[in-house]
Amino acid sequence: MSAFKTVRGMRDFLPEEAEIMRFIERKARETASLYGYREIITPVVESYELVAAKAGEEVRARMYAFEDLGGRKVALRPEFTASVARLVATTLRNEPKPLRLFCVGSLYRYDEPQRGRFREFWQSNFELMGSDKPEADAEILLLTNHFMKSVGLKNFTFKVGHVGVLRSILSHEGLAEEVQNQAMQRMDKKLYEEALKIAEENGASDKCLKTLQKLVNLKGDDAAKILEEMAEIVKDYREAVEAVKNLREIINLVVETDEKVKITVDAGFARGLEYYTGMIFEVYVPELDIALAGGGRYNKLVELFGGEPTPAVGVAHGIDRIMLALQEQRAKIDLKREMGVVVVPVSENLAAEALRIAEMLRAEKIPVEFEVMGRKVSKALEDADRREAGYVIIVGEKELKENAVVLRDMQKKEQTTVKIGNLVEVLRHLRI
Ligand code: AMP
Repeated sequence: MSAFKTVRGMRDFLPEEAEIMRFIERKARETASLYGYREIITPVVESYELVAAKAGEEVRARMYAFEDLGGRKVALRPEFTASVARLVATTLRNEPKPLRLFCVGSLYRYDEPQRGRFREFWQSNFELMGSDKPEADAEILLLTNHFMKSVGLKNFTFKVGHVGVLRSILSHEGLAEEVQNQAMQRMDKKLYEEALKIAEENGASDKCLKTLQKLVNLKGDDAAKILEEMAEIVKDYREAVEAVKNLREIINLVVETDEKVKITVDAGFARGLEYYTGMIFEVYVPELDIALAGGGRYNKLVELFGGEPTPAVGVAHGIDRIMLALQEQRAKIDLKREMGVVVVPVSENLAAEALRIAEMLRAEKIPVEFEVMGRKVSKALEDADRREAGYVIIVGEKELKENAVVLRDMQKKEQTTVKIGNLVEVLRHLRI
């Protein structure tokens, strides 16, 4: 019965998956605190207008948008950046810059479900507001590098480009922003022929088309060489030359900081979201052909939402895809599951006494599961074995009279009598 299944594109996270997901989230939080980013929590439901403003055609068409009971047009957030920019434009407008903000949570897009593509997915998101310096762009790349390493990912590569290069050439040809967006959208999907056709139909010159053609064919991991060729190709477009220079400064800062960071420069790289104005990037691993993270510079968004002109750069890390990549790489995740203790009263009239012992242990941070099924000791022990419990505490009348309980080592199948007053110490000694 379909009513008892998850809705298409939605997933349940079973305990092991939830643990891995929270592990990644924990690493994101650690990264945030190491780089000075403070967490904010924004609503899942936002005004449609806000999230639609610069999301780009692709995301806009796939939004969970609806009217609420008060007749407001709202949407489930498809990304975080619009919400953060809204805050910086309003409540946080007078905060001193730079402002470093972190958030983590679920996002919603009516994407076609497939491997690594879900309708509810999770991101950790970092935004650095107030600086237009290459150091800020480099910080976002470096913190992403730190985060990816800290979860245990190997062989990841940054694909880096700069929307300023392509956009300034199109602007120079007099193409309206709307048309530019359409062309960039096609480029994002690697539909370069279509992108060039849009430029041509809107009056781009032959020279411009040739320049674009050369750019979209230019990429490689020798960053210095690719940047030099890019500069040569765009030399007649002043703003594009500046954009290449900016990209070179950012990349130089990153590789001079950490020469192990792997970078591919892609001159024809575009991203779906329309708000980007400068450097853009994505993170890939060889095992998957979908991006694990994406980000870039957006200098006009806060202003668009009525705030002060605020240059900004940020990144969103796709937690679901990082989970998938870790699986593909067979990464060992140290989840530190604690070996639990099970407390079993011998009879129902001892339940309160046994519960009191369980609570005493929990107060000392010792994890305890209580026998809640009212089973006989032999059955309870079988179950504890199945659950791979390390120890069972059997609370019986005879031992209680002596202020003691029976402690059973499930592996060695040995039992000893332990005074209740010594229980915490004994269990600690056993490294529980
Ligand atoms: P974007 O907000 O489109 O820049 O996406 C940033 C990151 O979020 C991507 O690199 C993915 O890792 C992740 N992401 C985006 N869309 C989805 C989706 N439908 N399912 C899972 N992850 C996604």
